[in-house]
Amino acid sequence: MNQANSTTTLNFINGQYCDPISDGWLENINPADGTSLGKIANSTEQDVERAVIAAANAQPQWSESTLEQRSRILSKIGDLIEENLESLAIAESEDSGKPISRARTIEIPRAASNFHFFANAITQFSSESHESVGQNAINFTLRQPLGVVGCISPWNLPLYLFTWKIAPALAAGNCVIAKPSELTPRTAAMLGGLCNLAGLPAGVLNIIQGEGPRAGQALLEHEKIKAISFTGGTATGEHVARVVAPKFKKLSLELGGKNPNIIFADCNYERALETTIHSSFANQGQICLCGSRIFVESSIYEKFKTDLIARTTQLTVSHPANEETAIGAMVSGDHYRKVLSYFDEIDPTDASILCGGKPATVEGYEQGFYIEPTIIEVQNNQCRLNQEEIFGPVVTLMPFDNEEDLITMANDVKYGLSATIWTKDLDRTMRLSKKIECGVVWINTWLMRDLRTPFGGMKNSGVGREGGLEALRFFTEPKNICIAFED
Ligand code: NAP
Repeated sequence: MNQANSTTTLNFINGQYCDPISDGWLENINPADGTSLGKIANSTEQDVERAVIAAANAQPQWSESTLEQRSRILSKIGDLIEENLESLAIAESEDSGKPISRARTIEIPRAASNFHFFANAITQFSSESHESVGQNAINFTLRQPLGVVGCISPWNLPLYLFTWKIAPALAAGNCVIAKPSELTPRTAAMLGGLCNLAGLPAGVLNIIQGEGPRAGQALLEHEKIKAISFTGGTATGEHVARVVAPKFKKLSLELGGKNPNIIFADCNYERALETTIHSSFANQGQICLCGSRIFVESSIYEKFKTDLIARTTQLTVSHPANEETAIGAMVSGDHYRKVLSYFDEIDPTDASILCGGKPATVEGYEQGFYIEPTIIEVQNNQCRLNQEEIFGPVVTLMPFDNEEDLITMANDVKYGLSATIWTKDLDRTMRLSKKIECGVVWINTWLMRDLRTPFGGMKNSGVGREGGLEALRFFTEPKNICIAFED
């Protein structure tokens, strides 16, 4: 079955699309207009069991394949994603509400890059050796695939993050059971067919559709799944860790963020302002790396505030299929209501809405889930708006007077994913980069990614790192081999 044109999203197990064993189905809603896009397999532990059997059968041959064979297949998958860019971008935009232009120019190309990158990286992956001088021994590290691994990804950057996990796992010689979010199932399903076309052997990648607490939970609990790579919310991550820890699975957690976007008076003002629009509202603010807490040096605070409001109110909120749309729909009715609830609960002594703060009406699509891009001025960093991840087109704005206060506020939050700093002072960038508690610091830019770099968060934003060789290390078991020799 061709999943690109189908209104029924199936599981992909052992190289074939198949119905869920229980014959249970979920509805896939288009958040741009509230209509149904079709039905999705609502998988259970029986489907996961079937996928694990397929993966375990495929494992010996795949882990013994040469690096060149794996690299060629992964590279071909990347090529096929590029060749099918348009249909993937349409499916991604329809499932998630994200502007088609974003899916077409950023996210689907990045999914292809993930495969191309790890197709190359695996051929460059090496391990250490240590000569035990004076003891006549040499130690080296063998890095072996883990076996069958589980990859669970969220709805905000669906194929982009799904492939970010799957590509290194496959490159390292593992077989994979992967679960996308039930809210964004279709590009993941389409990937299965592309893997077949690329010659990936049956059973090496299996894609299970359905609900997190059901299908996802079955992945966490399955004894034969040796590792879980999870990206999602911090509360779910805590649950995942609790289930997985007593089973001694390897675990990587990429979780939520509440990232500071710090603007000093000596910055390149126009660049800082323009990029702040993106870092605040890209993908309707539904990116874990969005700079949702904006701190501006007092001397330029009023000007920056006026200019930011002016640019924000010019953003086009519209149907995701329109090329000029800057702000599309929120991913679901539930998430839309959750974000709006923050506006209802604002305490006027803490905060005031400078613009937005309400649903947006898009003519002809009144059943869609649209929210106006919103800026809220807050009085202190302790308020709920600055402490909780809202994950919508909502940023807070606050002045700061000096570096010490700023560092205290930047770090006084349970998250530690990323930070952005706008300044021309090199010494200051180094001081702050060292002191801010987070996994990624962008200086005078935002979300500029080089796939070789380690990616991940501190504190409640995650455990471990993905990206580059870190991901290949995660998906392999290091074994020390010590060889003694005679003089
Ligand atoms: P989520 O609700 O935590 O879900 C993430 C994934 O976990 C989904 O596939 C979900 O399936 C699944 N899941 C839910 N309950 C599960 C369970 N009991 N067992 C196994 N899997 C389960 O997160 P989300 O709302 O999709 O994504 C938004 C969050 O992800 C935000 O907090 C954002 O900051 C974070 N995020 C972090 C990064 C990063 O790199 N640090 C990147 C992107 C997003 P269903 O959706 O089908 O329930």
